[in-house]
Amino acid sequence: MPRTRVRKRLPALAAALAVLPVLPAAGARAGERTVLAIGAHAGDAEVTTGAILARHKRLGDRVAMLHLTLGEGGNPKMSPAAYGEQKRREALAAAQALGADVLFGPWKDGELRDTEEAARWVADAIRQVKPTHVITHWQASLHPDHEAAHRIVDAAVLLASLEGFESAHPRHRGVRGVYYADNWEDAEGFSPYLYVDVTEDLAAWRAAATSYEFVRGGLSPFPYLEYYEALARVRGAVAGKRFAVALEVDAFAKRRVLDALP
Ligand SMILES: [Zn+2]
Repeated sequence: MPRTRVRKRLPALAAALAVLPVLPAAGARAGERTVLAIGAHAGDAEVTTGAILARHKRLGDRVAMLHLTLGEGGNPKMSPAAYGEQKRREALAAAQALGADVLFGPWKDGELRDTEEAARWVADAIRQVKPTHVITHWQASLHPDHEAAHRIVDAAVLLASLEGFESAHPRHRGVRGVYYADNWEDAEGFSPYLYVDVTEDLAAWRAAATSYEFVRGGLSPFPYLEYYEALARVRGAVAGKRFAVALEVDAFAKRRVLDALP
């Protein structure tokens, strides 16, 4: 499926996104942000950016997660239906640990596609949550669901802002920036751009992430907990912090316009 499927159906999307108020110089104030992390599978948002959510919760901001699928296909010892029930319970426990609201998409693991219908569903969810900041998957991934999520979310942020798009909730133009998570499966071309200090929040991240059996170990050969804790140390080291979580942004969001050199 071509990567531009949604964009072709929504003319001038790229141009319109380029004028969204991404990365404002002034920044948002604590207590005024709503950070929404959108992952393809329950667990993606928590393991990659749970520490950022914990930090913003501690700063007095609202935090929320949208899991587009439960990721119910990842347990060789259980049926997708049974593991899906477990993943939902784990997601609710993780959200409670982070103090986050949580929403679930209607799609099945492995079947997420960047259709206009999906963009419309996510746009209405964005209108419901009213985020100031959206975090989702980077554009390239080992997992097709992750790539689809990236394209769906980019399209949905724009759709949510359009008066002409009708859904159950009024339009939302308050997204100040879209950020991409540092995910081991989404590494191709990912270059850390923003570093968020999570030194005080790593314990809260660990408590939330280990709500999931796949993070605690035994289900996947990938050592999730060790990897993301070590990654936070690596990102922190180059950022001059004990622990940090890095995010990428679109190329156009890196543009800075100045009256003179800083
Ligand atoms: Zn995933």
